[in-house]
Amino acid sequence: MDYHALSELLFPDVKKTPEEIEAQFPPRQLPEGAVVSRMAPSPTGFVHLGNLLQGLTSERMCHQSGGVFYLRIEDTDAKREVEGAAETLIDILRQFDVVFDEGVTETGETGAYGPYRQSRRASIYHVFAKLLVENGMAYPCFCTEEELTQMRASQEAQKANFGYYGKWAKWRDRPLEDIQRELEKGTPWVLRFRSTGSLENKIKFTDLVKGNLELTENDIDHVLLKSDGIPTYHFAHAVDDHLMRTTHVIRSDEWLSTLPFHLQLFKALGFKPPKYLHIGPLMKMDGNSKRKLSKRKDPELALTYYQAEGYPAQSVFEYMLTILNSNFEDWRRANPDAPADTFKFSYKKMNPAGSLFDAAKLRDVSKNVISKFTAKTVYEQAAQWAKQYDAQLYTLLTSDPAYATGIFDIDRGGKKPRKDIAVFSEIRDYVSYFYDELFTPADVYPQQLQPSDVRAILSAYQTVYDETDDKDTWFAKIKSICEPLGFCPDVKAYKANPDAYKGHVGDVSTVIRVAVTGRTNTPDLWAILKLYGRQRVMQRLEQAILRLEK
Ligand code: GLU
Repeated sequence: MDYHALSELLFPDVKKTPEEIEAQFPPRQLPEGAVVSRMAPSPTGFVHLGNLLQGLTSERMCHQSGGVFYLRIEDTDAKREVEGAAETLIDILRQFDVVFDEGVTETGETGAYGPYRQSRRASIYHVFAKLLVENGMAYPCFCTEEELTQMRASQEAQKANFGYYGKWAKWRDRPLEDIQRELEKGTPWVLRFRSTGSLENKIKFTDLVKGNLELTENDIDHVLLKSDGIPTYHFAHAVDDHLMRTTHVIRSDEWLSTLPFHLQLFKALGFKPPKYLHIGPLMKMDGNSKRKLSKRKDPELALTYYQAEGYPAQSVFEYMLTILNSNFEDWRRANPDAPADTFKFSYKKMNPAGSLFDAAKLRDVSKNVISKFTAKTVYEQAAQWAKQYDAQLYTLLTSDPAYATGIFDIDRGGKKPRKDIAVFSEIRDYVSYFYDELFTPADVYPQQLQPSDVRAILSAYQTVYDETDDKDTWFAKIKSICEPLGFCPDVKAYKANPDAYKGHVGDVSTVIRVAVTGRTNTPDLWAILKLYGRQRVMQRLEQAILRLEK
């Protein structure tokens, strides 16, 4: 077979040489050890936790090593493409602190290794397709859908392996004249790889996460270019990752099965293969067994879920590190206040079998993260969330930013900050009693008290309340109303002789707390009253007394 003649026949318009293309994409000038990696999503419009896991792994490895992290859009499958998907992806990843140095952007692209949308790289792929044909490593196949279906049926009947290989590969060794005849007829064709692999042979391979692997060689003549001239994932992967000078391919382990083919391709093209890191699946417990997170069953797979729930980006980031690196939690305990991005991420600490997603753990992590925010940060992020998801809350919070910030400031800071907010969608409930519009009274007074006792406490408190009291004076005043009403101002003394009293100072302050907040458990009551101000305190007490009279 005259492969040169065949290559000219198939690609008459391709004039550029591989060397010319190589010269357009010179090796990057980066320090020793710098990682160049990418996210290479298909623009389907659905961005999931697995994308984030992969993106963060790449991002950490690139940015911790002084390398380059870029975005390539794999839009070779027009059927699956959703308008604006790339922009959505960039936007949502940015919200989770995954930011690219290079590649596709919301307005175009940036970087010297583009185009970064595969649909715009057809002429580049064709140069290398021609090269493979010229070297006898690829050939056209004119099989129709029916012929392929028939082949499959015969393989099934003969209990042979499925696929286009060996004796089943009808067009693998056809003479040039046959090919020429089909081309003249205008029969559609795909370009196939001429595999020299055998199922008898194994290849040894080291994956950065999966470790040393022995994989069976590939014997299939996979499609490289589809009939419209657009490459398959496999071919585009080899050409792009080589030309864009990717040092590490970080991707989901569903690609592990086609890795032997990818390595064959790199070899056939004369490219040095990158290092590979295959990430195991994200799992969750379902009853007593583990299963993969599924798009259909698990709303928490979509990144939009975390936005809508109102998880701060930092919480998700921190949780991702928890499941990606087994030593992250120890590091966090030893460095409770260090920014998460100062943690030294290492692929060596990744679990080859994948990560277990645990929603309760994520909530705990998030509570911890939010407990360390300043009140101002909580205010700003909560308001930003509410702007999109809760218009009434947004109006309330932003109508008096100092008041709203004051709410989040109560019991913040110090050695043991409160950890009661996990997501911003809980803020409405958290702040509700601070706003008359949201406050729902609930007269959940201590059961042993009679309504008359409650009333007496509230009335007495009205007379001693002074909004300027400091915390000690405030508490001393609560104690001062105890004895006359039959309550013990000292809890210990009460416990020694409970029958002598109706209750103790704790019950008295609970009554006040319930009257003004509708809750038995709140942050520091003195601080709440301070923030309320005189008018709201007196009004709440008054209304509580009125309800008791009903
Ligand atoms: N487009 C492929 C995917 O979305 C990319 C895999 C890769 O990173 O190489 O699965």
